[in-house]
Amino acid sequence: MRYQGREVDIEGRVRLVMESALTARDRVGVQDFVLLENYNSEATFIENLRRRFRENLIYTYIGSVLVSVNPYKDLEIYSKTQMERYRGVSFYEISPHIYALSDNTYRAMRTERKDQCILISGESGAGKTEASKKILLYYAVTCPTNDRMAALGDHLLQSNPVLEAFGNAKTLKNDNSSRFGKYMDIQFDFRGTPVGSHIMNFLLEKTRVVYQNQGERNFHIFYQLLDGGDDDLLRRLDLDRNPQNYDYLVKGNCPRLSSVSDKNNWKTVMKALSVFGFTEEEVQILLNIIAGVLHLGNIQFGEGEDGEAYITTETRLNHLAELLGIDSSALGEALTHKKLTAKGEEMISPLNFEQAVSARDALAKSMYGRTFSWLVQKINQSLAPKDEIYHSNKGSSVIGLLDIYGFEVLQHNSFEQFCINYCNEKLQQLFIELTLRSEQEEYETEGIAWEPVQYFDNKIICDLIEEKHKGIISILDEECLRPGETCDVSFLEKLEDTLGGHPHFVTHKLANGKTRRVLSREEFRLLHYAGEVNYNVTGFLDKNNKWLNRNPKEVMCQSENPILRHCFRRKEVIDQKRPVTAATQFKTSLMKLKEILMSKEPSYVRCIKPNDAKQPDRFDEVLVRHQVKYLGLMENLRVRRAGFAYRRRFEAFLQRYKPLCPETWPNWHGRLADGVSTLVNHLGYKEEEYKLGRSKIFIRFPKTLFTTEDALEA
Ligand code: ATP
Ligand code: MG
Repeated sequence: MRYQGREVDIEGRVRLVMESALTARDRVGVQDFVLLENYNSEATFIENLRRRFRENLIYTYIGSVLVSVNPYKDLEIYSKTQMERYRGVSFYEISPHIYALSDNTYRAMRTERKDQCILISGESGAGKTEASKKILLYYAVTCPTNDRMAALGDHLLQSNPVLEAFGNAKTLKNDNSSRFGKYMDIQFDFRGTPVGSHIMNFLLEKTRVVYQNQGERNFHIFYQLLDGGDDDLLRRLDLDRNPQNYDYLVKGNCPRLSSVSDKNNWKTVMKALSVFGFTEEEVQILLNIIAGVLHLGNIQFGEGEDGEAYITTETRLNHLAELLGIDSSALGEALTHKKLTAKGEEMISPLNFEQAVSARDALAKSMYGRTFSWLVQKINQSLAPKDEIYHSNKGSSVIGLLDIYGFEVLQHNSFEQFCINYCNEKLQQLFIELTLRSEQEEYETEGIAWEPVQYFDNKIICDLIEEKHKGIISILDEECLRPGETCDVSFLEKLEDTLGGHPHFVTHKLANGKTRRVLSREEFRLLHYAGEVNYNVTGFLDKNNKWLNRNPKEVMCQSENPILRHCFRRKEVIDQKRPVTAATQFKTSLMKLKEILMSKEPSYVRCIKPNDAKQPDRFDEVLVRHQVKYLGLMENLRVRRAGFAYRRRFEAFLQRYKPLCPETWPNWHGRLADGVSTLVNHLGYKEEEYKLGRSKIFIRFPKTLFTTEDALEA
């Protein structure tokens, strides 16, 4: 119910809905941090978050940035009725919500004809994926559509369960953690109807296929298949239901989850695949690969007296070969021998036990990773705009959604965390560039003098990681490609030689007692913008090197399974060039992503995780403070407040406050700027309190506004 700019909520509590200072004295804090009197105080900031969280008000703004605290419980705020409330309503006229941000982004795209993007960030479990799903749902429900396009909305929503089944897993931090980065473009035609979509996936954490930390699981799909697949299917795939019987599923010692029903999710995934137009046959060959990975993990090796590995599980090997449509003896040989071409001659050399295990795991990771990319490609085909006219339609625009892994600090940090945190450095850089830039641009367009705010520019850390020749990735690649004996430790030594003295790089040797925790000889520490992280170099070279022995590739590309044939191309076998390394490929895709994002108007959702126990109604202040710090929220607020806390278009300002001045009431007929000027003069605003731009009034202190609001209330 709306009552003179206020909303009366269910409990009868009156809550202000206009962008006004009144919420500052409301017992649920301010709905925009910009209105905090003591905006420099981190404690006040956190207190405001906490008070709102306690009232289930999980959303708060910093200007146009939406801060969201994971409630870890279902709130009744996402219904269709709620969506209707937010439709076409200005950002500040109503309480903060992910729908408000979705709606404003959509309207900005429509009215300004500019591509938009929504960047969702936060640490693992903070609610990024849930936020992106809410945004998608909002568009699927509220955007204009026609019969033909209605299916697209459904497809957009259905892409989530499929990608989550294959790309998410239970980790210690989140029962449904996204183990890949996702950027999704939604394309709209000139009428604002969604007409297509495209997903870009980043660096799937493939190591998880063969290894999981204690208490963690492999990707959901494996457990879903074992729990949900019907008896006939499991018989055909030669699988039994117990995850503990598969080597690739036992490492984390966590077969089941109380919060997740693998059986129900299996049904959802199968239904979604059919929505995407997967034929029954395609689903079967896809499942052959998933089952194949499990069987591959159970292939065991022995070692002969001469040190040569041999397979001890022949029957299993035969089953596996049959399932993957490949020749059993060729597969056996590919797992125990290495094929080399030297001086034009082909040579085959046997592998020892460890090498064979590693060849097996490399094949499993590669099969799964490539199948995942194939799946994304298939989904993209089905999401692509069907209408030829769309492609030549100049009025069309795009909203991009970025849901990418947050900054990660584990007990043991490896190559994956290095890539994830590098990605976060890049996004932080983008955030700094774009928030400062847009703020600065606004003052410039409005002709208002601007004083820059001091902030930490993390470019120095991005350079440390990605700079050509002397950055960490370059050095890693060099070590991977260097012939002869290289190992993780020689990589670390090379880092020390090249980067010694860098203010953000520390190792055991370089520490000089400067740092808190002593590093081991296998570790280096990066002083990230978000905090210190120690990386253990063990496995770095291996994980970076995407080099798969030639024979497994040869075997795979001869498979009768069309997905495998698609994933392993003949050309790759013939072409003896080394593939680009994982880190360089990631760096390139991040560069591409940055380019895409820079060409769009950004909005931000900053997600915060309130506690580590994944429980509702628990607000761990220390944990929240850390996130506020590394999400740069205080800096964000300072930037926003550096010039003027509050800005409003002349029309809106006049509309709200015109009753306060006899000359502007009931209507002002002259120039808008003159009307505002007359109004604020009448209200007694002092010169240093405000400035008039070309189309907006800028008010420096919230207090000025509080007084005006009070006058309105009186
Ligand atoms: P990761 O980086 O690990 O992928 P994430 O930031 O994507 O983490 P989510 O998977 O979105 O985190 O959220 C974790 C869990 O928190 C969800 O499974 C859900 O239980 C809960 N959650 C998140 N957001 C909300 C919300 N708005 N309402 C209710 N529960 C939520
Ligand atoms: Mg996620």
